[in-house]
Amino acid sequence: MKSPCNICKLLDMQKIDIKKMVRKNILDLKPYSCARDEYSGEDGVFLDANENPFGKLNRYPDPHQKKIKYKLSEIKSVAVENIFVGNGSDEVIDLAFRIFCNPGKDKVLSFAPTYGMYEVSAKINNVEMIKIPLNKSFQIDFEKLDNYMNDENIKMIFICSPNNPSGNCIYKIDEVLQKFNGIVIVDEAYWDFCKNCSLITKINQYSNLIILQTFSKAWGLAEARIGMAYADAEIISFFNKIKPPYNVSGLNQKAALKALENHAEFEKRKAVILKQKELLEKKLPAIDVVKKVYPSDANFILIETENADEIYSKLVNKKVITRNRNNLVKNCIRITVGSSLENKKLLNALKELS
Ligand SMILES: *Cc1c(COP(=O)(O)O)cnc(C)c1O
Repeated sequence: MKSPCNICKLLDMQKIDIKKMVRKNILDLKPYSCARDEYSGEDGVFLDANENPFGKLNRYPDPHQKKIKYKLSEIKSVAVENIFVGNGSDEVIDLAFRIFCNPGKDKVLSFAPTYGMYEVSAKINNVEMIKIPLNKSFQIDFEKLDNYMNDENIKMIFICSPNNPSGNCIYKIDEVLQKFNGIVIVDEAYWDFCKNCSLITKINQYSNLIILQTFSKAWGLAEARIGMAYADAEIISFFNKIKPPYNVSGLNQKAALKALENHAEFEKRKAVILKQKELLEKKLPAIDVVKKVYPSDANFILIETENADEIYSKLVNKKVITRNRNNLVKNCIRITVGSSLENKKLLNALKELS
């Protein structure tokens, strides 16, 4: 192995003891060992899992989703032991709470407005969520964040980048990683649509960094419920330790594999979506009821309108369903970039409201 350079040595000092952050009951847990764990070969007469010998969906799926991980490892240049596959990112988020946060005692932190599941998952796990408002440009307010950096009960920080619902990338995440000794979860659900680098390359530098990505958006597989975590191998081992044994169905694993094997189609569709986004970004500002179009690094656009509740309902009446984000960002509506035809319908419906 190469000896570490000076920078790596310095960064190594940031290596955080993961075990110290893990809940004691999880550390002590002896995980369930399923039939496919005890014998993982593919050939043989399988009389070990009480499956039905007949049918097409009669066998349990690979509990470790190895084929998906090998393929992702290749595409992302990340080792297989640094990859976890969950039943959507939402499962990964919930598992993170259960690994690192003691209910009724620990806290987590996020930057508002952001993805709602972090808080819902916190509440389900009886963990307090501290919400620091993003600044006017939807970036992290470090002065406010600094007030919380000494609170030892804060176990995780959630950063969504590109952020949902604002659409922009969050900068200076490195600064958070350097300040905070707990787990930093960077949700890159929309990363495929943006031009900036993924922080996935930093998981070897920061042992407390977890990157979330998903098949639900750019890969077009929301129905299949598959999300990934990329992190230090020790963190990944705890996810594997506590996950339900067969957390990703065989049907869904096959769907993901098929998508991964057709990278050209992925790129083609992504290009169409980005082109359509450009078109919307050009046309939306000219519409009367649209007051502001926020810049977007994702496949959706946040717009400010005169009266979001009213505009949202009127659009619904015209059978155009957008997401009313008035409660999160005053008078704002989030619009997903659709197909050419869908976007035309949206633009026409909005124009008719003017
Ligand atoms: C859509 C979305 C996800 C995807 O969640 P899945 O459970 O993988 O479908 C994750 N994070 C954010 C911020 C999202 O908007």
